[in-house]
Amino acid sequence: MEGTIFNVWKFATKDGPGIRTVVALKGCPLRCVWCHSPESWSYAIEKYPNGETVGRKTTPEKIVEEVLRDKPFYDASGGGVTLSGGEPLAQAAFCREILRLSKKAGLNTAIETSGYAPLDVIESVEQFVDLWLYDIKLLDSAKCLKYTRRPLAPVLRNIRHLNASGRRIVMRCPMIPGINDDMSELKARGALADELDGVEAIDIMPYVPYGVDKAQKLGLKVYDAPHPPKEYGTEIVARLSNLTRKNVRIP
Ligand code: SF4
Repeated sequence: MEGTIFNVWKFATKDGPGIRTVVALKGCPLRCVWCHSPESWSYAIEKYPNGETVGRKTTPEKIVEEVLRDKPFYDASGGGVTLSGGEPLAQAAFCREILRLSKKAGLNTAIETSGYAPLDVIESVEQFVDLWLYDIKLLDSAKCLKYTRRPLAPVLRNIRHLNASGRRIVMRCPMIPGINDDMSELKARGALADELDGVEAIDIMPYVPYGVDKAQKLGLKVYDAPHPPKEYGTEIVARLSNLTRKNVRIP
C-alpha cells in the first residue's frame, strides 16, 4: 500500500505528549479560509515555482521504520508518533495502516484531525489511536460551512462517538481574529467540552499567517487575517477558562 505525505517533523513537542515525530499526510476535504498549510489540500504531488516538490509517495512500513529511529527519545519522554495533515483520515486505509503498525511496534499514537470523516473511517482507526487532537473550528453551522466549506454535523457526530467510546480527546481550537473568537463561539466550545467527559483539555492555537505565501506560490488563496498581538492567545485562554470546567492552555 502507498500513500502521500508532505512533511515529517522530528522532535515535535506541541502535538501530543513527550517528544514526537509528526507525519503530515497530503490531501484535505476542507478549505478553511485561514489555512496554514494550503500545500496539503491537493492529494497530488505538486511543485512550487522554484521547482521544490511538495509531497512524496511512501508506504506505512517505511514511515514506521523512519519513526522508530527516535524510539529512545519517545521512551524517555512519553512521546511517540502523531499523524497530521491536511486531513490524515482522508487517506483512510493508509492512515489506518500507519497507526496499526505503530501500535504493533509499541509506539504511542496521536492524530490531529478536523473530525470531518465518515463514521466508519473513525471506527476503523480508533482502536489504534491513543490520543485524539480534535479540531473544533466553528460551532455555528452556517459559519462552519462558510469558512471551512464543509458542514459541522459530521464533526460533532464523530467527537460524540469518540467520547461515547471512551477515547481520550484534546479539543484543539484554532483562533482566527474576527472569525471564531466572539463570545458565542467561546461559550459553545466551553459547553461542548463540558458535555464530553473524554475531553481532557482545550488547546488554544492562535492564528499564524503561515499559509499566505505558500498559497500564493501554488496559485491558491487563503485569508490573511489580522495578525493578533502577542497576548491574544493568553487572553483567549483567560476568557474561555471562565466558560468551562476543562483545562484551557496553549500547547
Ligand atoms: S486548516 Fe487543516 S483542515 Fe483546514 S483546510 Fe487547512 S489543512 Fe484542511
